[in-house]
Amino acid sequence: MALLVLSGPSGCGKSSLVNEVLKENDDIYFSISTTTRNPREGEKEGKDYYYISKEQFQKEIAEGLFLEWAEVHGNYYGTSIKPIEDALKNGKLVIFDIDVQGHKIVKKRYASIMTSLFITTPNQNILKERLINRATDKIETIENRLINAKSEMARIGEYDYLLVNDDFKLSLESFESIVKVARLKQTKEKIEQFRVGW
Ligand code: 5GP
Repeated sequence: MALLVLSGPSGCGKSSLVNEVLKENDDIYFSISTTTRNPREGEKEGKDYYYISKEQFQKEIAEGLFLEWAEVHGNYYGTSIKPIEDALKNGKLVIFDIDVQGHKIVKKRYASIMTSLFITTPNQNILKERLINRATDKIETIENRLINAKSEMARIGEYDYLLVNDDFKLSLESFESIVKVARLKQTKEKIEQFRVGW
């Protein structure tokens, strides 16, 4: 029962790292967010996101269904509470890919069992190149994502770890280590329970 929050600019390689780790581990639950943005080419409903309308999203906010939600690049993104709590009850490591606003909220609620990691590219030019090569966004959207990336970078200091994704293979090794460490995080109560029963 632990949480690992990942943040970082779109295009920094978070999804590729997570997908590799998910292939090897069945005790990880990857939190699938709900969004009002349109699916990108190749994205699938229920695998990458749950895609809903702005009206439906606002209704779910009002019903208190989100653990956290935020407006990013003009769209809503949010994490539903129920699947997270179920996965934690089942002893899974829950991995989130959420922005800096979401990180702050999740940290308030779960600090004692949470680890956080900020992932980024070595510099802005490489991020721009990756977004252009990915060819899933219009140039205005890319410019918007780069501006957002700069403001997110200002909050790197709020995270436990920083991973600069330059060489994918090396980054994957570091990411796997962070996943292992995140699983070991225990609440003070659990440690105390262990001590008493020892
Ligand atoms: P993208 O459109 O590239 O998939 O995601 C844009 C940004 O939204 C990324 O920074 C991603 O981490 C963030 N994001 C995705 N899902 C959530 C969510 O459920 N909550 C929050 N707060 N941010 C999210």
